[in-house]
Amino acid sequence: MTVILDGKGFALKIEEELREKILSLPSKPKLAVVIVGDNPASQIYVKNKQLAAKRVGIDSITIELPKDTSDINLLNQIEILNRDETIDAILVQLPLPDHINKSSVLQAISPIKDVDGFSPYNLGLLFSGSEPVSLPCTPKGIIKLLKHYNIPLEGRNAVVIGRSLIVGKPMALLLQRENATVTLAHSKTQNLRDITKKADIIVCAVGKPHLIDSSYISGNPVIIDVGINRVEGKITGDVDFDGVKDMTSYITPVPKGIGPITIAMLLENTYELYNFHQKIRAQYGDLR
Ligand code: NAD
Repeated sequence: MTVILDGKGFALKIEEELREKILSLPSKPKLAVVIVGDNPASQIYVKNKQLAAKRVGIDSITIELPKDTSDINLLNQIEILNRDETIDAILVQLPLPDHINKSSVLQAISPIKDVDGFSPYNLGLLFSGSEPVSLPCTPKGIIKLLKHYNIPLEGRNAVVIGRSLIVGKPMALLLQRENATVTLAHSKTQNLRDITKKADIIVCAVGKPHLIDSSYISGNPVIIDVGINRVEGKITGDVDFDGVKDMTSYITPVPKGIGPITIAMLLENTYELYNFHQKIRAQYGDLR
């Protein structure tokens, strides 16, 4: 029988636990969100993140910059937040407008405030087998969800579809860290069906509605659908949920799957950065 992985319920449980822990802190953790331009999806994501922060007792500020903001202006803004002792966590909402160099922006965020774990320092720690200050939220949440449901990872064949910086690549590293045997597939992968049909676990992060249908599935795999696509006003994933559900052992829905867990991980990372900063202050007096 197929188990529908309850991402929403799991996220609420994490939030509840965080709210309790934050209540006992001497001050509130503080998250700064930087958004450039007026991309409607980004505006909704930022709003949802702010609301979630409020629910668990995290303070948040949003810095809104116009679409035509220069690289230098954005970098200056990040530097102000890096130096601001009251800020624990910095998030730059992606995607950025095309004229802005994304890598230099991610490099500019202080690694000890990098709540998304996308800075080269944190990704480098992950790559080298050390523990980063923060782990990227979506892959971190997926591993937590799989463990929450006691889904074994060691020795399993995992296929990650999509090689983005924010999901696919760190996801592959985290699954490898759990001793899964990982294949990282992408837009140039040949014969994807042959690969997915041998998988025990499939994580799909592409952004194409219903890319994965029953022709990709064999042997009751676990399916994690990261995709968020808007089709005729409705949110849908990368997986044809109704078409494949009965061919899987576990599957996440969209919505109410990975989306809420990603937000819960953002809150958890903010809380962890706050604690990390408290330790640095106890030792050195300030964060510098
Ligand atoms: P991206 O657009 O940066 O990259 C997409 C990847 O898919 C690329 O690596 C590309 O090679 C691969 N790809 C494209 N077409 C393919 C095909 N036909 N077969 C195999 N691979 C193919 O993607 P992203 O930023 O990782 O986002 C992917 C999806 O996940 C989007 O729908 C996004 O909205 C969603 N997302 C959801 C969450 C969440 O919290 N649920 C978080 C991040 C991203």
